[in-house]
Amino acid sequence: MSELPRVTPADAKRLARLGIRTVGDLLLDLPYDWEWYGEPVPVARLRAGEQATVVGRLVRVLARRSPRGRLDLTEAVLQDDEGGRLQIVWFNQPYLARQLRAGDRLAVAGTVRLSRYGRLPEMQNPYHERVGEDGPRRVGGLMPKYHLTAGLTSRRRAAWVEVALPLAEQLTEPVPPAALARHHLLPIAEAVRKGHRPRELGEWRRACNRMAFAELLELQAAFLLARRRMAVERATPIPYRQEVIEAFKAGLGFQLTRAQRRAIWDIYRDLQRETPMNRLLDGDVGSGKTAVAAAAAAMVHAAGLQTVIMAPTEILARQHLGAFRAYLERSFPELRVELLVSGLGAKERRRVKAAAASGHCAVLVGTHALIEEDVALAALGLAVVDEQHRFGTRQRELLRERSRHGRPHFLAMTATPIPRSLALALYGEMALSIIDEMPPGRTPVATRVIEPGRREEAYEVVRREVRAGHQAFVICPLIEASATLEAKAATAEFERLRREVFPDLRLALVHGRMRDKDAVMRAFREGGSDILVATSVVEVGVDVPGATVMLVEGAERFGLAQLHQLRGRVGRGRLRSCCLLLADDPSAKSLERLRLMEQTTDGFRLAQEDMRLRGAGELMGPRQHGMSDVAMEALQRPELLSEVRQEAQRLLDEDPGLDRWPGLWQAAQRRLELTSIS
Ligand code: ADP
Ligand code: MG
Repeated sequence: MSELPRVTPADAKRLARLGIRTVGDLLLDLPYDWEWYGEPVPVARLRAGEQATVVGRLVRVLARRSPRGRLDLTEAVLQDDEGGRLQIVWFNQPYLARQLRAGDRLAVAGTVRLSRYGRLPEMQNPYHERVGEDGPRRVGGLMPKYHLTAGLTSRRRAAWVEVALPLAEQLTEPVPPAALARHHLLPIAEAVRKGHRPRELGEWRRACNRMAFAELLELQAAFLLARRRMAVERATPIPYRQEVIEAFKAGLGFQLTRAQRRAIWDIYRDLQRETPMNRLLDGDVGSGKTAVAAAAAAMVHAAGLQTVIMAPTEILARQHLGAFRAYLERSFPELRVELLVSGLGAKERRRVKAAAASGHCAVLVGTHALIEEDVALAALGLAVVDEQHRFGTRQRELLRERSRHGRPHFLAMTATPIPRSLALALYGEMALSIIDEMPPGRTPVATRVIEPGRREEAYEVVRREVRAGHQAFVICPLIEASATLEAKAATAEFERLRREVFPDLRLALVHGRMRDKDAVMRAFREGGSDILVATSVVEVGVDVPGATVMLVEGAERFGLAQLHQLRGRVGRGRLRSCCLLLADDPSAKSLERLRLMEQTTDGFRLAQEDMRLRGAGELMGPRQHGMSDVAMEALQRPELLSEVRQEAQRLLDEDPGLDRWPGLWQAAQRRLELTSIS
């Protein structure tokens, strides 16, 4: 990126946060919307407060420093063809004074205000473009809106794109020409040009369509390639044995739900094959995915093979250790479950590794330590990843490679309810099992949306619960652009609550920028504090049975699916729990959206609604698969998806290795590598 003029290293970092690392990425990321400044108008017709475009000749350009020397000002006067004069000032763009000269013909677009000197109308920091006699091409009319992070503006992005646009010719076209023709798609260079500089919005939409189609095609091709690759891999088949599942059920202590039985059955069917299982188990928090994984482990064990389970945090790994032991030890007393995390002492670590290497340990539970250390398993039959979105493709691969010979079967688990259509589009290389039913006997978390003026009522509920010996979460608003800002805001809120609201209670703080989040969570779980003030990092499945209140600040900034996940942090024990959603400044629309939380506890339904109301992009979080918004939106168009899928199938049928289309092959590989965030 730094090859572009005026992209500082800090800018490059900001862009990288948006997934833009090369000039090509910059070009491929089209504006997501436009601002309309209208056709050029004479200065005489300008009105303060309106957005407008003016074309004229510069009669004066002057560089100055602001009175206290803090700002570089570029001041100019623009005169239109009727003699009307517009005052212009640009802040902190000193290079403009060097680039612009009196006599230049310019189009400027911005908001009109009354001049500080009272005489001429003025624009501050307008968009500008040098124009020929035929009028402006970019400035005026439509101005692009780009995705931004703190420190970037659409205008600066537009300026960089402007410089880079000639390079569009060098972009590799991933879509084979025949496919372009079949689906009436713009070639890549044309799409990039028209997408950033459309003459009318129809051109931009066509460009977006093409981008979405290409991205989805890359992804579908990636899935097909991955499926084919896996189809030639060999795994050890795990024979199905009725007496094993019978024993497992007998030792469980509860009845499996229908949905759990279905998922277990899906898995047993896959395990019997000679090609490795590659399955995603999707079920809400508390839906009982662990028991499903344990049922699989029992069958694998009966075949003389081992199971390894990787969780994103030590606390979760320990939770699994307890659960697997509880589920399996009664019926399979000889089945040993062990734990490997980085916190273990040297001796214990050696013992566990030896047990894994000898095959003595049937189930090995752990964290990243499983792939970072030299762990070898004598006979790995099944690899399980919990909270799979927290791991990258590479890490999952490393886990599979823990096997000394052959490829293990693979099971990924997620507590993010994903509508089936979306899961198929996003995780097309995996088979899908959905647990859409909760174990019986859960009291649903009573949820209430609380309007801005009534915050004190929410605090009162927190006090009442803490007096009763329970605990509370307070979740701080989401700040998308910056984890640092988010951490700062949470710290400030923590201080405020501690001093002004709950001075008599014990508060703790956890946010994404903290080194030892795990320790804080553990202390809270063990009752070390009454209230945990947190950013959304507590989302991941930690059990705090004593917590009965979840108070979410700025609830309207979260997606429903996200809120649902947060809500899942309470009501884990026997106690009645509640979730209080505080909206900062809610419009009727966002209030209505939040009210859905009061009405349903079905995560899949909420996810579906989220997708309908806010789009798939919001649902999945930013940059899933490195996909653009337009592509995420396109995922919701089933007819387009099936068109794309057929095209991918056709291309691969004609040319199974994509040897003729290296552009598509490379793009597909890149998509697979991007499969995971965080
Ligand atoms: P998750 O899907 O979030 O990983 P868990 O596997 O941790 O859910 O299960 C949540 C709780 O529900 C655990 O305490 C577990 O023992 C219990 N549980 C799981 N399945 C059932 C069931 N069929 N009936 C009753 N309780 C169950
Ligand atoms: Mg779990």
